[in-house]
Amino acid sequence: MFLHFGKGRQHAARLYSDWFRKGHVRDSVLWAEPQALSLVEKMIGAVDFSLPQMSALREEGGTVKFLLKFPDGLESESVLIPMEAGTTICLSSQVGCKMGCAFCETGKMGLIRHLNCEEIVQQVFWARQVLGKEVRNIVFMGMGEPFDNYDAVMQAVAVLTDMGGLGFGPSRITISTSGRVDAIRRMTKEADPALNLAVSVNAPTNEIRNRIMPVNRQWDMAELKTAMQEYCSHPRREILAEYVLMKGINDSMECADTLAEYLRGLKVKLNLIPYNPQTRDRFAPPDEAQREAFLQRMREHGYQTLLRGTKGRQIMAACGQLGNAGLRRELIASSSTIIKQL
Ligand code: SF4
Repeated sequence: MFLHFGKGRQHAARLYSDWFRKGHVRDSVLWAEPQALSLVEKMIGAVDFSLPQMSALREEGGTVKFLLKFPDGLESESVLIPMEAGTTICLSSQVGCKMGCAFCETGKMGLIRHLNCEEIVQQVFWARQVLGKEVRNIVFMGMGEPFDNYDAVMQAVAVLTDMGGLGFGPSRITISTSGRVDAIRRMTKEADPALNLAVSVNAPTNEIRNRIMPVNRQWDMAELKTAMQEYCSHPRREILAEYVLMKGINDSMECADTLAEYLRGLKVKLNLIPYNPQTRDRFAPPDEAQREAFLQRMREHGYQTLLRGTKGRQIMAACGQLGNAGLRRELIASSSTIIKQL
């Protein structure tokens, strides 16, 4: 688009860079060139530079959850999490999600629609240019199964990593999947090896995983492990295995031992996430002693394991808490994609 208004690639690249790095093209050096000035003015009049409105922002202990409302009234939910190395932004790739994981608020919504590349990138743009956050890492762990919207997500990754624009290194981006084996294979073949993959394992056996993650009925744990092995065959690649700890479901020492056996042979780091409360709870988090025991057991088995904190729980910004289950019911009731304005 920039190319149509400028004097060629160099000119276009400059405007593109100003837009992504500064958030505007008002003081582009191109304004100093009289000939370019009229072209830039023309461009500003012709291109829609407007950003979506922010419809909500909540903050708890440094963790910020913000919602962007798109022209059709639907919203993305993004979370900014302060970490030692800088801010991590958790992005949504869909409004809702069809995967139906039993421990996840978004899963209760069903899929409402995919976000497009622009709507995904806008979440990062907002965080940097409007909220003024120094975003260091990007994780696709918000609403949606990123691999259910593979093309838009990968297109967004291409924009985010474009050195002429935002310039994020691929190693600072993590895509998380519930276990879509077809897309893990596609990523193995197509993606930059520096891009990170996280897999929500969440169970030590098919019996338990079938109950909490319907995706397991399509691709069971054996198929998932094969796909993860193929992915890890590249020397630069390893997997972040995620495991939501739910009291009485998957938190016993027997579960830890079986999980250790399952992960054997994979290059993995393990992230344990205590279950976060939701609107209608079917599960509960393990008590602290049980979490610690599980953590220690996995470490004894030789796995690099972290027990994740519960930042943002009160503002429904923690893992598994994004989404508005009432929204889908509202949409079905109104048979419209326009929801009531906040
Ligand atoms: S955990 Fe992820 S894949 Fe599963 S329902 Fe929630 S958003 Fe979808």
